[in-house]
Amino acid sequence: MAGSFDVVVVGGGPGGYVAALRAAQLGANTAIVEKDRLGGTCLVRGCIPTKALLQSSELYTLAKGGAPFGVVADNIAFDWAAAQKRKGAVVDQLVKGVEGLLKAGGVTVVRGAGKLVGDGAIDVAGERLQAKDIVIATGSAVSRIPLKGAELTIDSDAILELKEVPPRLAVIGGGVVGMEFAAMFAALGSKVTVLEMLPQILPMVEADVVNAYVKHLTGLGAEVHTSSKVAEVAKAGRALQVRFSTGGEGGGAVDADQVLLAVGRSPYTEGLGAEAAGVKLERGRVVVDDHLRTSALGVWGIGDVIGGIMLAHVASYEGICAVENIAGHARIPDYHAAPNCVYTDPEIAHVGLGEKEATERGIEVKVGRFPFAAAGRALTLGQTEGFVKVVADAPTGRVLGVHIVGPRATDLIAEATLAVQNGLTLNQLDLTMHAHPTLPEAIMEAALAAQGRAIHIANRRVQPTATAAVSNPSPTAATLPLHNRERQMVAPVKPTAPPAAAAITAKKLELKKENRDFLLGIHRTMQLIRRFEERAQEQYTKAKIGGYCHLNIGEEATVVGAILPLKLTDYIFTSYREHGHAIARGIDPKAVMAELFGKETGTSHGRGGSMHMFDAKLRFMGGYGIVGGHLPLAAGGAAAIKYRQEKDVVECLFGDGATNIGAFHESLNFSKVFDLPVLWLCVNNRYGMGTPVDKASAVADIYKKACAYDMESIQVDGMNVREVLIKTSEILEKIRADSQPRFIEALCYRFRGHSVVDPDKYRSTEDKEKFRKADPIVFFEHELETSGLADEEYFKNVRAEVETEVQDIIKFADESRDPKVEDLYKYVYAAEWEESPALRGDPL
Ligand code: FAD
Repeated sequence: MAGSFDVVVVGGGPGGYVAALRAAQLGANTAIVEKDRLGGTCLVRGCIPTKALLQSSELYTLAKGGAPFGVVADNIAFDWAAAQKRKGAVVDQLVKGVEGLLKAGGVTVVRGAGKLVGDGAIDVAGERLQAKDIVIATGSAVSRIPLKGAELTIDSDAILELKEVPPRLAVIGGGVVGMEFAAMFAALGSKVTVLEMLPQILPMVEADVVNAYVKHLTGLGAEVHTSSKVAEVAKAGRALQVRFSTGGEGGGAVDADQVLLAVGRSPYTEGLGAEAAGVKLERGRVVVDDHLRTSALGVWGIGDVIGGIMLAHVASYEGICAVENIAGHARIPDYHAAPNCVYTDPEIAHVGLGEKEATERGIEVKVGRFPFAAAGRALTLGQTEGFVKVVADAPTGRVLGVHIVGPRATDLIAEATLAVQNGLTLNQLDLTMHAHPTLPEAIMEAALAAQGRAIHIANRRVQPTATAAVSNPSPTAATLPLHNRERQMVAPVKPTAPPAAAAITAKKLELKKENRDFLLGIHRTMQLIRRFEERAQEQYTKAKIGGYCHLNIGEEATVVGAILPLKLTDYIFTSYREHGHAIARGIDPKAVMAELFGKETGTSHGRGGSMHMFDAKLRFMGGYGIVGGHLPLAAGGAAAIKYRQEKDVVECLFGDGATNIGAFHESLNFSKVFDLPVLWLCVNNRYGMGTPVDKASAVADIYKKACAYDMESIQVDGMNVREVLIKTSEILEKIRADSQPRFIEALCYRFRGHSVVDPDKYRSTEDKEKFRKADPIVFFEHELETSGLADEEYFKNVRAEVETEVQDIIKFADESRDPKVEDLYKYVYAAEWEESPALRGDPL
């Protein structure tokens, strides 16, 4: 069936068919190509058939234990063939459902294997489809490993087709797929043995949750061998034998009738012709940028085939993001609240950060646990194993993660996902009425327990599990955890900014080997900001950037040092010195450049330019055209925090020019009178709008101006990133502790003009030369070099890498779409705010 389409999706799994339906909703003439059955791995060989069979095994378990409930039956037996038949019927019904949805949605279904042949063309069995945009959604296939005797094993596809329940089943690989089959067959009476190479099965799950599950599994007679590497599978008479080692001389052998090899899945691109069509692959995975674009123009990638989190709902979500991007609604996928479910018995589900992970990032956490044994509904169900664990940011109470092992954990996780996605607090969870008796009451109780006021269990004294001076914001998607269903498939994602780190303490900033990665990360961010600004200047002169383009070259140490110590929940109010501020905060530099270009993919969808960069999620309130105009806004923001009794801090960055106007003085005064949690941070680059500070201001030491308001204020060397980092960290912690405003003046130097159009004639060559020696990047490189942490060769590579990155950034901005004229009033400040309930808070 030849034809021309706006969008052609290749692959009809949960990524592909959802993308196709959404594209059609958006008005695109859409086709989907599928070589097998619609529904993909999920419907045909994955999520659905496994859960259908697991329902059978669960019913069997319940029936066997029915007597105490008054259900008495003799000779309860399990009919595997009947369970298989039902599984097939469920799959058939859902596949038909997808076919019906595509038909009703006006999507053309093309049967056969699709091959990209370049220039938007796809070949399907000799027929040619032409597309303006192509979405690759070809999913994944079972991975094989070079294991001796692997041909004797079965994989997750084959195990679903077994003709009988194996009396003995060995499972190689303790990931999600392996454990779900282990749970099913152990419940059906198989003698199950699990062999896992790592020290823990389900390595992406919190250890206490895994322990609760393993206790149940071994109670059914199963054996779990961790730190056990399988060496070989061999025939042993009519059965099989799995031989494994446990390091050194240790090891053993397990006899089994069937051996399931569940060691992961690999992206599937066989026969797709991707590389020939210009689509870059990396170890088989389709490489995409943060908008899901591949390296070929007009070709996008979603789902398992791009690696990362290989789950059905993630594939569907990416499908929606990709086609919305195609339609010009900029969508960068946000994975921080991707739920992960394991359908074992008891079930396991989690979302967001774990206790260990959060602590390792330097976040001070509060943890609340509630056991199902104390939940009325769990008791009525007779399923009291397990617990709910809530992890929250201690100062703000914001829910960071929820971890559940117990009945219907996989359904319960929905409430937790909503909380994590929207940044809800413990308070907001526990003040939401929960119907009784229900299992979700356990989430409410765990939220109460985190605050030492659970109702249905005795409370422990609440103590933060870790006390960190300052946490690293690390808010980019790149630094968030990626959970693969079988964990082996995690695709490497290179962090851009800011560098990942735990608490910023003096120890962490020592020029020592153990801090190398952290320090080099800081250095790279500084380089990126500088190169970004230099190239932005060029783009301005090429008329790619309209209006005004400010330059802050030389302020990188101040920018990075002042912003990195903030917590993810703190707010930044900044003026137009903001390209670097935005990048240091973790806003995607591509979105920053696109904003300068006035493109739809920019931080304010191209409506703000250099004057208005805004990111609700990262609490970045950027830009205000009038000098010092944002200081009263920052004071207002801090008043709101105080009113809401939260522990967040506002950091307000401004230049020396702002300190001579009334708004500056009014704001400082207001913040002091009302004890507001705000850090006033003056980036004194010594030349406010071309006038030397000592000529423009009666008080040349700007930090002294804060003394007039009885405010603690300090001056720091703004050319020394380590000094700015540590001093800012210390001051922020003081503000967090006593809600008193404080002031920092960071003394730096602007090496170029105030903006691209500023001829920069007011500074003498000698003046520039004097400061050139104190260039913050050169200074930091010197420190790193003399302490043996890096050498010139390294710096050269970073410069080259950053240059390439910035060229990509410019390319992205250049190729992005302009906002649609009819949408020009969309995405105004208040509207974005409205869409983020966490920021809105309670009505006054
Ligand atoms: P797929 O579902 O793999 O679909 C890709 C489709 O593309 C296939 O239909 C394939 O035939 C087609 N295709 C490939 N190449 C071409 C081509 N050249 N031309 C035309 N068509 C092509 N995830 C969950 O979230 N929850 C679960 O409970 C769960 N359980 C699982 C259990 C098992 C046993 C397995 C194996 C996986 C499970 N998963 C689960 C993972 C889930 O199935 C995948 O993450 C999901 O299916 C990925 O969706 P996708 O659209 O990217 O790819």
